Amino acid sequence: MKDELRQRILQLERRSRALDPGAGRRRRLRNAVIASSERFLRRVRSLRGFVETADRGSGITELPITPDGVSIDRAIATFERYVVHPGGNPPSPGYLAYIPGGGLYHSALGDFIAAVTNKYAGVFFAGPGAVRMENMLVRWAADLVGYPAGAGGSIASGGSIANLSAIVTAREQHRLKSADHARAVVYATAQTHHSIDRALRIAGLGEAVLHRVPMDDRFRMDVDALARAVSEDRNNGLLPWLIVANAGSTDTGAVDPLDAIADIAAREHCWYHVDAAYGGFFLLTEHGREMLKGIERSDSTVLDPHKGMFLPFGTGIVLVRDARALAASHAYSAAYMQDAEVAADEVSPADVSPELTKHFRAVRMWLPLVVAGTNPFRAALEEKLLLARYFHEQIARAGFATGPEPDLSIVTFRWEPEGMSLDESNRVNRELLDAVRKDGRIFLSSTMLDGKFTLRLAVLAHRTHLRTIDMATEILREKALAIGGC
Ligand SMILES: *Cc1c(COP(=O)(O)O)cnc(C)c1O
Repeated sequence: MKDELRQRILQLERRSRALDPGAGRRRRLRNAVIASSERFLRRVRSLRGFVETADRGSGITELPITPDGVSIDRAIATFERYVVHPGGNPPSPGYLAYIPGGGLYHSALGDFIAAVTNKYAGVFFAGPGAVRMENMLVRWAADLVGYPAGAGGSIASGGSIANLSAIVTAREQHRLKSADHARAVVYATAQTHHSIDRALRIAGLGEAVLHRVPMDDRFRMDVDALARAVSEDRNNGLLPWLIVANAGSTDTGAVDPLDAIADIAAREHCWYHVDAAYGGFFLLTEHGREMLKGIERSDSTVLDPHKGMFLPFGTGIVLVRDARALAASHAYSAAYMQDAEVAADEVSPADVSPELTKHFRAVRMWLPLVVAGTNPFRAALEEKLLLARYFHEQIARAGFATGPEPDLSIVTFRWEPEGMSLDESNRVNRELLDAVRKDGRIFLSSTMLDGKFTLRLAVLAHRTHLRTIDMATEILREKALAIGGC
């Protein structure tokens, strides 16, 4: 009987061996993946910003999941054809829509070693070095923002979750109870990212009053209007609670007057949150530091390394001026975790975020930072700022109506032939955007500003350089002339 059991177990061990390939098989798997990534990288500079295909990737579902699997070559071929090919290409230079993504090669390799070693980065006891690495990066970001030594934070999956953590912290610090929600007021502009509304709802604050603060003609928060709104609300028996400022709105790239807003937040005892998911890493540049002056006075902020540091998607940082506030709103305990509750030199990420087990995200940020250093990041970010300014000039010269000079790296503009009604010009700009996307060499997106269908060009992909911006101007001029109307 005992022998039979042992035989059965050994048989299962042999059958599951495919899950733990030996050196030779590892080489074959690895070579197939590396060859694929090299095929991609060799042509990434000429890769179109957007690729429309008839099947829209549906072929991926035709490769079945079977008991015995398929060859790595077949899997990779399917991946290339149906996943890599269709849709937007964030790592390509021509991706100028939304907020472009990056995809640093160093980070890909960082993810690889993080996955192979699979260190547990949630709790200090389990992965002391991993947790130190993560906290070191949080500290590096906090120093960049200008927060004091008592600040804390965590590396989340993106800006949305990072914003959620900040809002939950603000709720707990102001001891908002459900009975207070309908009187609690949040101040934000129409440019504020929708992840804030969503975070409020998820945090149980769907009933809070959202006071939309008017903006100036550059889409920045009107500080006088904010001051008036807060005092009026207070006089009306409401509870001014949270002020959300943009340090680079997603839509137009507008940076709110952060320093002046900090004065009001301090005077009115409101929690001050700065959403710098898009713009935060411009703090590495001189222009960015000037634009974002006052961010160091906020209570919490969010920066997305998968935007301004060109990391692959899945990395956002929340920072809170007072680390204790973040811990107080996220801490937990559980009987089965008792062994981990030993004296720790470092805060455990699991104590300051909603996550317990998580991707060891730090490596993808740490590897490029320690190996390349900060200078290439500084240079790239300054280049993007200048490219946006340059495009703003060039596209005006090409006869387009332009929005304000960019605060950061987003330019808004539209084709406005003379004598056209608003409806007509909106239709023409939509057509122009479609024509540009069908062409595919560059990928732009659009927004509505004061009822006007407006095109936007966002420079933040690390491979976008001068030649792409020149090409973008050329394509836009060409397509606009083809559509006509002037
Ligand atoms: C991108 C962005 C977010 C949301 O971040 P995700 O990483 O996409 O979840 C929030 N706020 C601003 C200003 C952003 O640009």
